[in-house]
Amino acid sequence: MALFALSRGVARSHPVNVSFEFFPPVSEKAEASLWDAVTRLERLAPAFVSVTYGAGGSTRERTLRTVKRIMDNTSLNVAAHLTCVGASREEVDAVIGELNAAGVRRFVALRGDPEEGVGQKYQPRADGYANGAELVAGLKTFGDFDISVSAYPEKHPESPDFQTDLDMLKRKVDNGASRAITQFCFDNDVFEAYLERVRKAGIYIPIVPGILPIHHFGKVASFAGRCGASIPDWLHERFDGLDEDPETRQLVSSAVAAEQVADLVQRGITDFHFYTMNRAELPLAVCRLLGIHEDRGGIQEASGAGGNEPAAA
Ligand SMILES: Cc1cc2nc3c(=O)[nH]c(=O)nc-3n(C[C@H](O)[C@H](O)[C@H](O)COP(=O)(O)OP(=O)(O)OC[C@H]3O[C@@H](n4cnc5c(N)ncnc54)[C@H](O)[C@@H]3O)c2cc1C
Repeated sequence: MALFALSRGVARSHPVNVSFEFFPPVSEKAEASLWDAVTRLERLAPAFVSVTYGAGGSTRERTLRTVKRIMDNTSLNVAAHLTCVGASREEVDAVIGELNAAGVRRFVALRGDPEEGVGQKYQPRADGYANGAELVAGLKTFGDFDISVSAYPEKHPESPDFQTDLDMLKRKVDNGASRAITQFCFDNDVFEAYLERVRKAGIYIPIVPGILPIHHFGKVASFAGRCGASIPDWLHERFDGLDEDPETRQLVSSAVAAEQVADLVQRGITDFHFYTMNRAELPLAVCRLLGIHEDRGGIQEASGAGGNEPAAA
């Protein structure tokens, strides 16, 4: 079913909005490669692009600089990721103030992980924002920002159960989040079941699937293990034996991601957030397979509905 939709370019017959996530570069070479990706992906008229904030708040300056550079040199809507881990409210508020002064009106508000990395035990600071929900409330005191938050189709690894996870998402929405972007999830049945749970919990904001085109399967599998995302057997099989064959891997990766998006479109989803890893080739190939072409004209405004609202909402 998905392959059939793919062969006809599903975005020609369905509304499809895309957004792209980048991370701040660490070197001049990385900066050039990021810039190449940004300018090539700009031509797809994404709803917005976002720039991550390093673990433990470690990339504050670089995130700020990257956000400003994209704002100053492109027509893109830019969202700044912001985490509150390891910082006082005062420190986080200073960063919000700086971004606000630079004209940033979109945020992806996150608790974040300790600098040592995913899987380390998180300790909220007594003088800090304790979680994503508190950070959303803090951001809203500065202005009526467009705020995205995280969501976890397979639940966050620290959540003891789904209910705890959904409670946190509900708190983030109650405090002003207008969209949730999910951790990558390769099984669309799992995503759909999660969406049903979210709606049953009375949460009606768009839940935008995070799509990860796979550059390196081994690295993705290892990261997935640490952040509680599962890798289906069929995906293992598709990449089996391709470790030393990057060309074939790329072709398989773009087909896998395009197939996943096409299937989600057929399930009624319209908005997709791509984890680009600062490279344009895979997102470009995936979008082209979906029927989203360069220079399709104008920035697509992020859909309010996300295409996954229940009719009664
Ligand atoms: C779309 C997206 C973008 C991201 N961007 C970044 C980024 O730019 N920089 C970065 O460092 N990380 C980023 N992350 C990773 C994120 O910071 C981690 O997953 C982190 O562990 C949780 O942050 P959060 O905002 O999801 O936490 P929250 O939404 O605050 O909480 C996540 C879950 O943890 C549980 N939880 C929270 N606090 C507690 C507690 N005290 N005790 C028990 N359980 C608790 C809750 O049940 C909740 O569901 C991103 C993740 C996603 C999905």
